[in-house]
Amino acid sequence: MTCLDCKHGIPEKGKVTVSFDKDNCTVVIKDVPAMVCPVCGAYYLDEAITEKVLELGNAAVKTGSEVEVIHLQAA
Ligand SMILES: [Zn+2]
Repeated sequence: MTCLDCKHGIPEKGKVTVSFDKDNCTVVIKDVPAMVCPVCGAYYLDEAITEKVLELGNAAVKTGSEVEVIHLQAA
C-alpha cells in the first residue's frame, strides 16, 4: 500500500505516539503499533489498535487529570 498522504512512501511497521485533547485533558499514548510512512511520517492505525487507543483515552479522561501519558501494552 502506498502512503495516502504523500503518495510516495510505502508505510512500514513501527511505533508512534498518539495524542489528543478531550474535555480539557491531554492524552498521550506511546508505543502504539502503526504503519509509518518513511517519507512524510504519516501513520496508519489498524481498527483494533484504534479501538484500544480510544478506550485508553476515554479511561484517562475519566481520571480527571490534565495530562495522561500512557504506554500501550502490546496484547
Ligand atoms: Zn507519506
